[in-house]
Amino acid sequence: MAESKEVVIKRLDETVVNRIAAGEVIQRPANAIKEMIENSLDAGSTSITVAIKSGGLKMIQISDNGHGIRKEDLEIVCERFTTSKLKEFTDLRSITTFGFRGEALASISHVAHLSISSKTQGSQCGYKASYVDGKLKDQPRPTASNDGTQITVEDLFYNVLTRRKAFRSASEEHQRIADVITRYAIHNSGKSFTLRKSDNDTSSGVTVRTQLGASALDNIRALFGSNIANEIIHVEHENETLHLRIKGYISNANCSMKKFNFLLFINNRLVECTSLKRALDAVYQSYLPKGGRPFVYLSLEMPATNLDVNVHPTKHEVHFLHEEAVIEEVQTAIENKLLSCDSSRTFYTQK
Ligand code: ADP
Ligand code: MG
Repeated sequence: MAESKEVVIKRLDETVVNRIAAGEVIQRPANAIKEMIENSLDAGSTSITVAIKSGGLKMIQISDNGHGIRKEDLEIVCERFTTSKLKEFTDLRSITTFGFRGEALASISHVAHLSISSKTQGSQCGYKASYVDGKLKDQPRPTASNDGTQITVEDLFYNVLTRRKAFRSASEEHQRIADVITRYAIHNSGKSFTLRKSDNDTSSGVTVRTQLGASALDNIRALFGSNIANEIIHVEHENETLHLRIKGYISNANCSMKKFNFLLFINNRLVECTSLKRALDAVYQSYLPKGGRPFVYLSLEMPATNLDVNVHPTKHEVHFLHEEAVIEEVQTAIENKLLSCDSSRTFYTQK
């Protein structure tokens, strides 16, 4: 008889577990930046600046003017499941902040060198601390700083070589980061956003910028160009039965692009929804030349109880109730808007 080999089950080391979990939340520099922008917005910031090196792989630094982190909290802020936002599980039904799991900073600190410098309004000076694997490396030290928080993330995935090797191009990562920041900047118009490359003299500079007090249309013009901004229609629609509010800006029949620029926010969260995208593409097909694609920025609001945000580690995907009816309602609202603009155009040219 062949000697059977004994199989041993062992409990994984805690740092290994944390590193695996971290890889699910933080998949690339753009994810880390999305999480940190959401933290800055949760903290009430009106000005958010992101500086990156090598597409964020070498360095990400995000500075805000939000309420800051208290010195006492700097000790635990990077541990898993430490949050100032969620207290009870039932709160998940009505959560209005982006964060709720206390996982982002913990995750980042498991796959990168992380340091935080922060000052609250009530504090005389700021404090700076650095972290490794969720833990404080050494005690917070006083530092001169403005009110708000600055978080620096260096050498992302330094300890996850397979992940690190998967990134081929810094410019592709930069593009993804610019994309995320552009979207947040448009949805949070009025607050200022800046993305700056700070590699070296040759490839440094601001690549995304919006101004304090600017309108959504100003920002669409600044970030997507006048060709789109000049052909844009404002949409606003409400359906009481579905408890649904639709707001946004969409391009009209005169504006046709190669790529579908679709910016979707549901209850202020940046999400993706393939079925809605397909439905809108179908609407535009009868208005645009063959192969032409629109620009659509939509903000949907529905009762928090209809939306499940805790579906995916990156919170990118959301599930919501009455999905088919909601999609149909959005589709009809946009169709009607395009139709009314189209007929007014015909009317105008006939006169
Ligand atoms: P979550 O956002 O789910 O609470 P995070 O790991 O993203 O978890 O952040 C942990 C905590 O750190 C937050 O609850 C918040 O109190 C604090 N924090 C993080 N970033 C900032 C910031 N930019 N300004 C103020 N507080 C922050
Ligand atoms: Mg967060």
